[in-house]
Amino acid sequence: MPRLLGEIMGCQACTPGAGSGRQALHDGVALFTQYMSAERIGAIAYDGADPADDPQWRLSGARTRAEYALWCRHCCGMACLQMVLDHRDGHAPPLLELLHGCRAYGGYVENADGQIKGLYYAPFADYVRAEHRLHADVHPHLAAAELPGLLADGHLVMASVHWEIRRPDLPAPGRGGHLVLITGHEHGLIHLHNPSGHTPGARRASLPMDVFESFFAGRGIALRMR
Ligand SMILES: [Zn+2]
Repeated sequence: MPRLLGEIMGCQACTPGAGSGRQALHDGVALFTQYMSAERIGAIAYDGADPADDPQWRLSGARTRAEYALWCRHCCGMACLQMVLDHRDGHAPPLLELLHGCRAYGGYVENADGQIKGLYYAPFADYVRAEHRLHADVHPHLAAAELPGLLADGHLVMASVHWEIRRPDLPAPGRGGHLVLITGHEHGLIHLHNPSGHTPGARRASLPMDVFESFFAGRGIALRMR
C-alpha cells in the first residue's frame, strides 16, 4: 500500500478534505536547507560568502566540492522536495541525488555558456510523478487566495517567491525567483518553510497573507500523494 503524505507523522492535513478554508496545517514537516550549513546562509546572502567553503558540502550528495558550489544556489526546489518526501517517508534522498534525477527529466538546463536555467515546473512535475509517486499539479497562475483551498485538500505547495521573503519586514524588492514550501494556513497566516532562510525564524515563517502575497509570483506546484 502506498503511504499517504504524512502518514508516518500522523499528519491530518495530508488527508484530502481534512482541512478547511480557515485552517489546514501540515504537522511535523522537517526543514531542509539548500545550503548544508544553515548557519552560513546569512553570510552567503548578505556578506558575499562562498557556498563552496561549506565544510559540510558532502552531506548534499555532491561528488565534488565544485559540483556542490555549482548547483546549491539552484536547489531551493530540491530542498522543498526533500521536505515533502521526508514528510511522507520519514527520510529523503540527498539534495544532489534529487537534482540529478530532475535534470534527467529536463527540470534544469545548463546552457553552453554554463548558465543554469530552472527549475522548469512541467518536467519537475513529470519527474516527481514518475520517480517519487507524488501527485503534482503545475499552477502557472495561482492566486494567494487559492492556497488555503489547496492546503485543505491535502496538498503541500511549492510557491515561487522573491528570496527576500526571508526579511518580510522590509518591502518586497520583487516577486518570484525562489521556491519555498507552503505547509499550512490558519487565521489569515501562511506558514512556510524556506530552504534559504538565514535565521531559524526565517526558515520556518508565518506571514500575513498580504505580506506573503507581496513576494509571491503567482505560480507554484501543488503536491500530494496520489
Ligand atoms: Zn501533512
